[in-house]
Amino acid sequence: PEPGAALLDVRKIRKTFGGLVAVNDISFAIRAGDIVGLIGPNGAGKSTTFNLVSGVLPLTSGEVELLGQRVDGRESRDIARGGLSRTFQHVKLVPDMTVLENVALGTYLRTRSGTLRAMLRLDKAEEAQARAEALRQLRRVGLAEQAHELAGNLALGPQRLVEIARALASDPSLLLLDEPAAGLRHKEKEALAEVLKQLKAEGLSLLLVEHDMDFVMKLTDRIVVMEFGRYLMDGTPAEVQASPAVRAAYLGA
Ligand code: ADP
Ligand code: MG
Repeated sequence: PEPGAALLDVRKIRKTFGGLVAVNDISFAIRAGDIVGLIGPNGAGKSTTFNLVSGVLPLTSGEVELLGQRVDGRESRDIARGGLSRTFQHVKLVPDMTVLENVALGTYLRTRSGTLRAMLRLDKAEEAQARAEALRQLRRVGLAEQAHELAGNLALGPQRLVEIARALASDPSLLLLDEPAAGLRHKEKEALAEVLKQLKAEGLSLLLVEHDMDFVMKLTDRIVVMEFGRYLMDGTPAEVQASPAVRAAYLGA
């Protein structure tokens, strides 16, 4: 998509768990080329919002449009093929597979049926292609040298980059990252920020949930704030930082 084109349009999405309204009629839009932050106190509904938008959880109500196509009600694999990919709050790598194999699992989304079982039936040519593609994505995140290490042997920072490479392997237009900097050392955070800036420069759009305010403020063009499942405000990092409502939400005042 051209920079500025409508990429994601989220309209009044809602999710209830029993009596709890985890996401309460949230709306926001992302244009191609944006890096948008999604912030809010613990339990605000950020991860659930990701799960709704990426099709991991069914919506209670509301609509999601990706590149002009309605995707609400579709399976996450279909949505990934449609151009939206995501990482999870907790690392989901297979620790006793290599870095390359972990990423190759993501490339497989592009091919026929997208199931692990089908992957095991890949012919040699397809397998070689998946591995070449995985290596290409590892280069984008600066991890080609670690391709043949076991994923479980990497530190947390590089593991997060492997997850990003895996998400990139389905060739998304929009990448959702759920707390990518959580638990990382300062140097690892800097490396991650550099990778994300590079991806933006390549034309990828990002939506990221992140608790490290410094990290969010430096990286994003715009920030959406949630509290108790509700939309609180959205604005530039400077506007959000200056907002008394946002301050109150974080201080619980
Ligand atoms: P955040 O990511 O902003 O910290 P979550 O989206 O994880 O918040 O959670 C929002 C609310 O929904 C919380 O109160 C949480 O306990 C609840 N919640 C999340 N997932 C489930 C689930 N699968 N079943 C029941 N309640 C859930
Ligand atoms: Mg969360």
